[in-house]
Amino acid sequence: MKLILLGPPGAGKGTQCKRIIEKYGMAHLSSGDSLRAERAAGSELGKKAQSYMDSGALVPDGLIIEMMIAAIKKAPSGYVLDGFPRTVVQGEGLDAALKKAGERIDAVVNLIVPDEAILLRMTGRRSCPKCGAVYHVENLKPKVVGQCDKGCGPLVQRQDDTPAVVANRLKTYHEQTAAVVGFYAQKGNSIMDIDANRGIDAVTGDIFRKLDALSGCTSGKRCR
Ligand code: AMP
Repeated sequence: MKLILLGPPGAGKGTQCKRIIEKYGMAHLSSGDSLRAERAAGSELGKKAQSYMDSGALVPDGLIIEMMIAAIKKAPSGYVLDGFPRTVVQGEGLDAALKKAGERIDAVVNLIVPDEAILLRMTGRRSCPKCGAVYHVENLKPKVVGQCDKGCGPLVQRQDDTPAVVANRLKTYHEQTAAVVGFYAQKGNSIMDIDANRGIDAVTGDIFRKLDALSGCTSGKRCR
């Protein structure tokens, strides 16, 4: 399957993507994770992206489209796109590349969460700088406070999860990303609206039911 997972920052896209790929076995292509890896590696792209990311703004479309199309080419049998496309221009860029390759997106999963809930969620989020695992001080606590369950060491708060930056990321979402849902609806793609203002398992259950119906999977567990 080739999927797009949309939703505001902090809607749980990363967490749900990990569960989706575990069950359906496709690649997880996260634009945010790729950018953080570029920054950690000190690449040209990472350096260019840094100031945008730290302020909660979007990295320019051209850079993102190039990075994500390269990743998609390496995952011909299926993927879930997490955090991309985030503008209509990025959607058009993706569309053009897929058309050229004779491919199409099977479904768009749209996670819906109100802004107030997002603010609470994101400012409590902690992640492991080594393995990328994500926790929450209230909703998804690590076994030992402040430590990664996989033994990697201390958890950190992402620089862009502080209250002022979160507010800016939400503004950016409403101004530039919310329209991407309409873009895909207009193109006739199947949009799976999911109420994501609930516990993680309830959200996963809804997503799995819809993806099972789409893929014809009936095993209940793994569907590769
Ligand atoms: P994320 O982890 O997906 O919330 O992304 C973290 C930050 O990376 C965002 O706030 C943006 O600055 C940047 N970013 C990630 N994906 C994109 C994208 N598709 N377009 C532009 N900027 C992006």
